[in-house]
Amino acid sequence: MKIDLHTHSAISDGEDAPDTLVAKALAAGLKVIALTDHDTFDGLAAASAAAADTGLQVLTGIELSTQERGVSVHLLGYGARTDDGALLAELHTIRQGRTSRIPAMCAQLSAAGLRITPADVLAQAAGAPSLGRPHVADALIEKGYVANRAEAFEHWLAEGKPGYVHRYAVPLEQGIALLRAAGAVTVLAHPWGRGSHTVLTPVRIRDLVLRHGLDGFEVDHTDHDANARVALRMLGRELDAVTTGSSDFHGRGKPLNPLGINTTTPETYGEILQRIAARGGTAFLEDR
Ligand code: AMP
Ligand code: ZN
Ligand code: FE
Ligand code: FE
Repeated sequence: MKIDLHTHSAISDGEDAPDTLVAKALAAGLKVIALTDHDTFDGLAAASAAAADTGLQVLTGIELSTQERGVSVHLLGYGARTDDGALLAELHTIRQGRTSRIPAMCAQLSAAGLRITPADVLAQAAGAPSLGRPHVADALIEKGYVANRAEAFEHWLAEGKPGYVHRYAVPLEQGIALLRAAGAVTVLAHPWGRGSHTVLTPVRIRDLVLRHGLDGFEVDHTDHDANARVALRMLGRELDAVTTGSSDFHGRGKPLNPLGINTTTPETYGEILQRIAARGGTAFLEDR
């Protein structure tokens, strides 16, 4: 039973419409996916509808933009009640921060000689409610300035590069609390991937699990090398935390992350469902 708990659709910065994502998940032999678009639940209805009567379960998910001491930390939430007012208000604020930085990014890139406009970026986003640097990357690809998203990030969009503009994110502890209050299970996405490893030390992760309600963290992820996975797995065992594996699928934009490249065990998935139920969350949209 193949379970992939971290995937993106074109409702944020993935390639595929939610129904296409579901078709690809079925073709990849998956039995469960979580749709974890950045800072929005908007793709869930279409994904759940597409998965009805196919044998694929679509777990309600989100990848929340949080920050710890100014460093970006991605927090996965599973089984949130998608009508929770406080959570929806925070998501709205985060998405506004995503949108409002686009003109500044375009201005900085244009000053550096890469002439793109907010309209070019919005054309690439094609109505996605959650805008991100990958959409700016796609505009740069369309104009012929770079070959792919990886190159766009490396030269222009990563922190410290000419097109980078900071954006708002919710403090990590507050993000955990918001998701839990909405009934969700919280799992750090790629904690020892780029950036966040500097703030998510073992000491801090222990503190988050033991004192701040964090449920667990991703272990098997393409951003983690073999040593990181061993250490994180041991930490998970010590803390009796939920440890997951996932693809972080984005389609073409992340060619090294095909669906199902990393998976979560059925036992861990069962534990996540139990915790959601105990917290009054909603694992599947059709259970509302
Ligand atoms: P943002 O949400 O605007 O902060 O942009 C960050 C997103 O861009 C991440 O969530 C990734 O999905 C994506 N990303 C980051 N680095 C790369 C890369 N090197 N290649 C492709 N996508 C990337
Ligand atoms: Zn993404
Ligand atoms: Fe992420
Ligand atoms: Fe992701």
